[in-house]
Amino acid sequence: MQAVTPHAPSYYAASRNPTPLRPSLQGTVQADVCIVGAGYTGLSSGIALAEAGYKVVVLEAAQVGWGASGRNGGQIVHSYSRDIDVIESNFGMEVARPLGQMMFEGAKIIRERVAKYNIDCDLKDGGVYAAMTAKKVHQLQEHKELWEKWGHKDLSLVTDKSEIKKIVNSDRYEGLLIDKTGGHFHPLNLTLGEAAALEQNGGTIYENSGVTKIDRGTTAVVHTAQGKVEAKFVIVACNAYIGELEPKLASMSMPCGTQVIATAPLGALADELIPSDYCVEDNNFLLDYFRLSGDKRLIYGGGVIYGARDPAHVESIIVPKMLKTFPQLKGVKVDYGWTGNFLLTLSRLPEVGKLSDNIYYSQGCSGHGVTFTHLIGRLLGEAIRGDAERFDSFAKLPHYPFPGGRLFRVPFTAMGAWWYQMRDSLGV
Ligand SMILES: Cc1cc2nc3c(=O)[nH]c(=O)nc-3n(C[C@H](O)[C@H](O)[C@H](O)COP(=O)(O)OP(=O)(O)OC[C@H]3O[C@@H](n4cnc5c(N)ncnc54)[C@H](O)[C@@H]3O)c2cc1C
Repeated sequence: MQAVTPHAPSYYAASRNPTPLRPSLQGTVQADVCIVGAGYTGLSSGIALAEAGYKVVVLEAAQVGWGASGRNGGQIVHSYSRDIDVIESNFGMEVARPLGQMMFEGAKIIRERVAKYNIDCDLKDGGVYAAMTAKKVHQLQEHKELWEKWGHKDLSLVTDKSEIKKIVNSDRYEGLLIDKTGGHFHPLNLTLGEAAALEQNGGTIYENSGVTKIDRGTTAVVHTAQGKVEAKFVIVACNAYIGELEPKLASMSMPCGTQVIATAPLGALADELIPSDYCVEDNNFLLDYFRLSGDKRLIYGGGVIYGARDPAHVESIIVPKMLKTFPQLKGVKVDYGWTGNFLLTLSRLPEVGKLSDNIYYSQGCSGHGVTFTHLIGRLLGEAIRGDAERFDSFAKLPHYPFPGGRLFRVPFTAMGAWWYQMRDSLGV
């Protein structure tokens, strides 16, 4: 067995459920479906297909959950990174309707799967969107009305300061939108549970098996350094970590880094900070997100580095943000700090489609991928089984290259983001 690329130095890696080391691919194997990448997209589509009786092989360059899926904020956020009203005004109701009908499905898939396979991942109900100014509270009200229009009625807006502090004990917020169907969980343990579910259904996962090339054909051939998979279908599910594998996919998106810390366990203080135990994200353009872990640490994330460099000192970026929200944590010990990459698209909508008749892809959830990756896993399964109607609802969305190409997309996007950041700091 070869050495496996280690996980990012996160709290999640340190507290992951025991899991077997999986072999790397050696020699030639056959499959109905070969999936490249063992994050939520790959595992979720693999489970959908293996449950339907397909022979599924997953090839993962590092370990299960090594990418964003094993190191994210762990927050269940509905919908897409572009609001459904914007989708409607840009592309019309015909395009928006099926997307709107699916925008709460991903969270249901996660909950069904955790229950069905008894996945131990600290899943808790309840999420909060937090606003810092009256203008931002108004945006929460609009958000509530929009989601209610699309059938999601479980929302309540809280603007009374003393009530706010019973939910999130910070002076920063003027309003909270509570979504009881939001929630949070240990992201790496979800991937490990999903990998076990896939194997339970007859799927095979090879770790330390980076794909170097995919040959097109009626039978596609997926190559690694020491083996290959001959498959009727392929799903490319590499997201921000795709590197040079499929240049077309890399050229229409941009990897971005975001940083997270986990404090030492806070004991009773944790319940004072977030008495509701809900997860929280603010509604700024460059947002902060935080929640309590199963063992009562504060997990706090925020910021974006366009182009996805790994910063040397995650703590120095995130601790000042955390102290703005919770000054009562001054001096608290931080046990872990890590970075992870998500994939930004120009439209902020996911990029879904086919590279050839039998090679599918999905990428670019632009930071809100926990629920979408679970939804698209189901839709990839439907498409490969012969019913592509719901998959095509996403595949028909246009994909735009970033202005400036791969060389200048970072400074161009950073300039655009600076404008929105300035608006946030002015509270507009
Ligand atoms: C720090 C952070 C916080 C986030 N917080 C949230 C949140 O709270 N809520 C939310 O909704 N979203 C969040 N996101 C976004 C969300 O995590 C992602 O959208 C989602 O996990 C993407 O899943 P994926 O399976 O598509 O990609 P990934 O999980 O990145 O998986 C891709 C996999 O492909 C593998 N791979 C790449 N190239 C190859 C190759 N050539 N051969 C084989 N394997 C390969 C990689 O090793 C990796 O394991 C966050 C992202 C980050 C980085």
